[in-house]
Parts: sequence; structure tokens; C-alpha cells
Amino acid sequence: MFFRRFIALGAIIFLFAQIAYSQEPTAEKPAASPVKPKATPTPTEPPITFNSVHVDGAYIALTFDDGPNATLTPKLLDLLAARHLKATFFVVGQNAADHPDILKRAVREGHEIGNHSWSHPNLGKMSDEAVRRELQKTDDAIAAAIGKRPTLLRPPYGSITARQKKWIHQEFGYNIIIWDVDPLDWKRPGPSVVTARILKETHAGSIVLAHDIHPPTIEAMPATFDQLMKKGFKSITVTELLAMATPIPPKPTPSPSAPRAVALPSATPSASPPVPTSTP
Ligand SMILES: [Zn+2]
Repeated sequence: MFFRRFIALGAIIFLFAQIAYSQEPTAEKPAASPVKPKATPTPTEPPITFNSVHVDGAYIALTFDDGPNATLTPKLLDLLAARHLKATFFVVGQNAADHPDILKRAVREGHEIGNHSWSHPNLGKMSDEAVRRELQKTDDAIAAAIGKRPTLLRPPYGSITARQKKWIHQEFGYNIIIWDVDPLDWKRPGPSVVTARILKETHAGSIVLAHDIHPPTIEAMPATFDQLMKKGFKSITVTELLAMATPIPPKPTPSPSAPRAVALPSATPSASPPVPTSTP
């Protein structure tokens, strides 16, 4: 009797360990985990890392990292406001502390603010205590500016370990937001290249990465926004996008005759996971 119970308990622990392990990508490849556990609904915790989201409808989340910047971020806010688009700003804490007014304006205009660490280090290589300080200082600076705490973390370079994700989620309540569209705008390839890359890679449910600290990125945005809108995409905040997540339907046998509207082959999260690079 006791022995049998012991075996059963062991089996359950083993099962949970397998599930937990299979859901967590390593720090090297932050993008591997899909938004929803695929077909098998399991009694485990819901996912906390997102590269893209499966949604019905052509919704996307435009995200801008590393700001706010004194001149470029307000310019970007103007461009977004003129088109009624919403974005998410993953701010560096020390910039947020310098420009609380810009954060306030962003929130007033319907955008979201997320935590991108205090000084942009590689969190995956740091001690828990150092990571905690980076996140807490930024969390405090955001709260001081906008009166509420962020619920999203984007680790610099997409670098974070599975273990860190867990304790950070427990302690701060953050979802970890990576991306599935990366135009590498920080390399400053020229505005038209940034626009072309974003348009090529974006599909329904995409989380698009860009940086509001590079002038050419901001220059690229009017055309990028206009062409995304022309394709039917609507940008909302990351939290709004997460709230719209729908289960990934089981793969039907391909029926070539029935293409759906604009927001297509989005079901699978990024074919090629974003690899953390030396993004500034
Ligand atoms: Zn960054």
C-alpha cells in the first residue's frame, strides 16, 4: 500500500519534471518555446515566455527597446498617435528615471511600459542578487513615473536562463517577452531595409522588436506603420496581445484552395528563433 503510493508519487514527480524541462528553452536560444503548449493540455503552470502569440485576427505588438530617448521617443509617440497604433516600450531603468515625463505620456496615449533592466547587462550570466537589483530598480523607476508596476520583462539580448525565468516570474509576476521579428535595426542598415525586414517577417500575433534610440529606426517607422496597416495589421500592446491568445488549432491537412485573409500562416511561432546578439 505505502509502497504503491510511493511509486505513484514518483511517477507524478517524474512527469512534472519532464513537462517543466521540455517547456524551457535555454538561455542560448530564448525563442524556442511556443506560446501555447501544443496539443496536449497539461495541468502544469501556464507558459511565461512568449515570442509570438496565436491570435484570430491580424493583431501584432510593436515593441521598442532601450529608451526612452529625449528626442526620438517623443517623435515616435507622435507617429504612433497619428495612426492610432499602440506599442510597448521596454525601457532601460536609468533612462526611465531620467525621463519619467516621456513614460507618463506614453501611458496616457495607450502604450505599455515593460522592464528591460536598469543598465542593460546580460542577465543570463549574473547572480540572482544582481539580477534582482537590476529588475527592482527599474520596476521602481517605472512605478514612480507612471504610478503602476510593469508586468513584462524583456531581458537584454533575450538572454535569460530557465531557472531565472521561474524565480523572476514568481517574485515579480513578470511574463518574459522575447520576439519573433527582428529587423536588426540596431546595426543601422538604413530605414528602407528596416521597413522591408519588418514587413517580410511580420504575421498575425507577431512581436516585433525595434529600438527607439536609433534615428534611422524612427525614420523607418512612418513607412513601416503605413505598410503594415495597408496589409491589415493592427498594433496593440503586448498585454493586450497576450489576452487575445487562442489555442493553436491542430494542423489540418493542407487544403490549398482556401486561403484566409491577410493574417496567415501565423500558427507556428518563429521558424528561426531569434538568437541573442550584441544588440545595444
Ligand atoms: Zn535592449
